[in-house]
Amino acid sequence: MEYITLHNGVKMPKLGFGVFQIAKDICEVCVLEAIELGYRHFDTAQSYLNEEEVGNAIRKSGVPREEFFITTKVWIDNYGYEKTKDSVLKSITKLQTHYLDLVLLHQPFNDYYSAYHALQDLYKEGKIRAIGVSNFAPDRLADISVFNEISPHINQIEVNPFHQQIMAHEFMQNRNIQIQAWAPFGEGKNNMFLNPTLSELGKRYNKSVAQIILRWLMQRNVVALAKSTHKARMKENFEIFDFIISDEDMQKINALDTKTSLFFDHQTPETVDMFVNMIQERRREI
Ligand code: NAP
Repeated sequence: MEYITLHNGVKMPKLGFGVFQIAKDICEVCVLEAIELGYRHFDTAQSYLNEEEVGNAIRKSGVPREEFFITTKVWIDNYGYEKTKDSVLKSITKLQTHYLDLVLLHQPFNDYYSAYHALQDLYKEGKIRAIGVSNFAPDRLADISVFNEISPHINQIEVNPFHQQIMAHEFMQNRNIQIQAWAPFGEGKNNMFLNPTLSELGKRYNKSVAQIILRWLMQRNVVALAKSTHKARMKENFEIFDFIISDEDMQKINALDTKTSLFFDHQTPETVDMFVNMIQERRREI
């Protein structure tokens, strides 16, 4: 495993296991399998509805708590100073731990200022070791970073070979905010696993497309979250620390950037509608 150090000195494994869209009934087994394979960094969220199952797996694994790096995210309906504090304490209980390594605000909507103040206080109380945000574009990130006592340690955003977020990454590097990639494979959209450039590089290094993508992210100092419900793929995704992609080949992957999200373009009416629907659906679920 490779590690990065956040701006408060906390060490974080560069590769994590994400549990978005892993159903409650299989989540515990998947996390236990991932732990067995060596994963220690897990990323869940209040809106994934599987914090308890992640907690069960961590407890049952017998691995000491301090070896793990556990993240959750506060959903927007839980924003507001008291609501955020209460919801994080509930997440801590569900995850069956005494503290969390990282808590993020999931989206830049609703009263995220009060929510962030709650995270800052929980951080000072020692309940969480690092705080941050997710899906914050550079302008929102500048806002929250400049006008708060503690600048976010992390911003978790979509990063993959087709949406490389170069400008956002540069902005974060300049402000000492660590970038973290969600959907490093773009959930396979736009035939990412069959891309000719990535496949060709896979052959050259005797690695899969998934491994090439994750290695490329590691070399760009992007913390990455991979998700799989298949043990063989979990293993494959973990075996990325025994090779190095040359500068020339890194450039070939850099050239795949389309600078467009594979999921949301917040500027089009269709995607704004899609987003509003998603928020309303989650509101019914949580
Ligand atoms: P992803 O990791 O880009 O892609 C997951 C998909 O790729 C799954 O369908 C998985 O299939 C497949 N896959 C995984 N490894 C593979 C391999 N080696 N070969 C072929 N297929 C493979 O997408 P994601 O799950 O959306 O993102 C990863 C994590 O980021 C999430 O779990 C979550 O923790 C985080 N996330 C955060 C946000 C946010 O708003 N902050 C949004 C999205 C995701 P199987 O499961 O069937 O193996």
